[in-house]
Amino acid sequence: MHRERRETKNTKLFLSGKKAGAGGNPCVCQHPSISEAKVMLRTHRWQTALLRWLGMTLSLVSVLLCEAAHVHVQIAYANDAWDLHIFDFDSGRYDPGQITIPVSLAARSFIPDNSHYTGFLSATGKPVWILPQNEQPDILNLGLGSSRITSGTFTNNQIKLSFRRVSGPGHFSLFTSTPFGAPVVHMTSLDGVNPTNDFISVPAVAGHIHLNWAFTVAGTYCIGLAASGRLNSTGQISESVVVDCIFIVEAPPPPRLLAPRPQLDGAFVCTLKSEAHGVCHLENSVDLRNWTPFVTVTNTTGRMEIILPQTENTPFQFCRATLP
Ligand SMILES: [Zn+2]
Repeated sequence: MHRERRETKNTKLFLSGKKAGAGGNPCVCQHPSISEAKVMLRTHRWQTALLRWLGMTLSLVSVLLCEAAHVHVQIAYANDAWDLHIFDFDSGRYDPGQITIPVSLAARSFIPDNSHYTGFLSATGKPVWILPQNEQPDILNLGLGSSRITSGTFTNNQIKLSFRRVSGPGHFSLFTSTPFGAPVVHMTSLDGVNPTNDFISVPAVAGHIHLNWAFTVAGTYCIGLAASGRLNSTGQISESVVVDCIFIVEAPPPPRLLAPRPQLDGAFVCTLKSEAHGVCHLENSVDLRNWTPFVTVTNTTGRMEIILPQTENTPFQFCRATLP
């Protein structure tokens, strides 16, 4: 194993997409929510250090740290057996079922109005969470590597990592960004899961690739991956079992409307409490069935006053705030 920290500047990039509809065989996962995960994060290093001092190993479902310097989905092949696992360059090897991979709120951005990116995962202005190709603060630096593979084992010293199944609240895509900013899609659930199209080639000997892991909705995702390669010894394809990697994508806090109050001029105001610098859509209704957008705001400080629109011929109106 080798250590490295990439120094290149990151640019968040998106890409144009394929047809809609996630597919694949769903997997059933019960893993901690992001809030539970944060509690576990605080204990994880302490547990790791103590258990290692005691000569014991962790048997818990653990959570990687968002600020972990360098983590890989790692493909190994030795003694005619595949070993697809998670490798944290700080804390070591984990079976994918032992670990959850955090995608923090810091990884969220919004899809720009750019034909390369709209239609990739969602529409312009919609959020997308990306574990980026290039290292950024407070975001897990997740790459892809190969190890313990003897040169000449596989044809052209190349292996593949294929996308085999997904479950989760949104879409998943894996892509790289060229030096000129053009996205290259390797895997996406937008058009379902098709291992013929959804794969990335990896050098078999000391392969090391960093790329963008993108999710369109907060929540928990199970991403089923399998490694394969053509053996020079037999000419046959050898493939690993499908391994589920668990990602937890952090949601922003829900917006709240507080303290509705009339003003001397007859207007009605309330306080919007939401994520600082976050965008909220405000809508009103007179019957709680039909909602009309009346303003979109960026809540710079996390608290701001909202002036409700005047309504006529109705004794009530209701207001709500939603996220993009
Ligand atoms: Zn790496």
